[in-house]
Amino acid sequence: MTPAEVSAALVAWFDEFGRHLPWRPDEDPYRIWLMVVMLQQTRVETVLPYYERFVAAFPTLADLAAADDEAVLAAWKGLGYYSRARNLHAGARELAATYDGRLPEEPALLERLPGVGRYTAAAVASIAFDAPAAAVDGNVLRFLARYFADDGDLASPKTRARLERLATSLLPPSGRGTHNQAAMDFGALVCAPVPRCDGCPVRAGCAAFARGIQGTLPKKTAKAAVRTERLLVARIRDAAGRTLLRRRPDSGLLARFWELPNVPDDGADPVAAFAVAGLDLTLGATLGEARHVFTHRLWILRVVDARLIREPAPDALCRWFDDPHGATLPKAFSKTLEFPE
Ligand code: SF4
Repeated sequence: MTPAEVSAALVAWFDEFGRHLPWRPDEDPYRIWLMVVMLQQTRVETVLPYYERFVAAFPTLADLAAADDEAVLAAWKGLGYYSRARNLHAGARELAATYDGRLPEEPALLERLPGVGRYTAAAVASIAFDAPAAAVDGNVLRFLARYFADDGDLASPKTRARLERLATSLLPPSGRGTHNQAAMDFGALVCAPVPRCDGCPVRAGCAAFARGIQGTLPKKTAKAAVRTERLLVARIRDAAGRTLLRRRPDSGLLARFWELPNVPDDGADPVAAFAVAGLDLTLGATLGEARHVFTHRLWILRVVDARLIREPAPDALCRWFDDPHGATLPKAFSKTLEFPE
């Protein structure tokens, strides 16, 4: 099959079976950027209600640029991977300051925005501006490795660069955004981890299928192991029913979110560890255990009823909340609020 035939077959398949996302061809590039970012590491069905909520809160790039951090995190709450929201927000501010509040059309300029890598820049530029850039996500890499029977390790930058060049060779002269969406959806739904070769519209050109090796591709080295961290979490409520929360540090995992005060659950004296953090307390009964999985990290939270001996030190960055669910509290902690006394 020629590149034009492959592209036409993918687009025809997409027209009939693809998951069409809620933007029109004339839609605001900001919304396309937002959707592309939300879809990183998250399924379409999960993203849609968050997308609607976010654009209702910040309908334009200017609205997002003018918003405060807390409001942006609150609108993103529940979707996870919060660095995406922070980067979007920082990017919107940068665009408001340098590009008159518009997204640049060139992928290379988009890549200068915080959190925007090659894939995001190509996806946004091609969908919003028909830029000649191939958006290559994991689904497209799998499809390309099979279609061209490339047995290079996907973890290798050389293999990725080679497959990206092949992806670019398939781009049509126009309608690249639709082509890219078609290729991504096709990789997700047809050339899936278990390929559905029966009825595949590009089977006639697929080198792996011709050799019967599609089940062995792509080649990938094992993922990094998940690290387990155990935390002892103090659930502290006062006589008025308020809950004490603590602000997380300005950088790192879940930066600047609120959390229930916690210390490592590593066998050391937890009361002493809380005292070092500015919290003098007594610990009571264990209320329950929660688990939360991040990309390469598993948190095991042992939640303990606790009472303050005195108000927290100012540098403990704590505050009482009548309704802790109303704070920007990550899911890992919000579920521990429901444990019965
Ligand atoms: S024939 Fe099978 S392996 Fe080849 S592109 Fe189609 S679905 Fe993927």
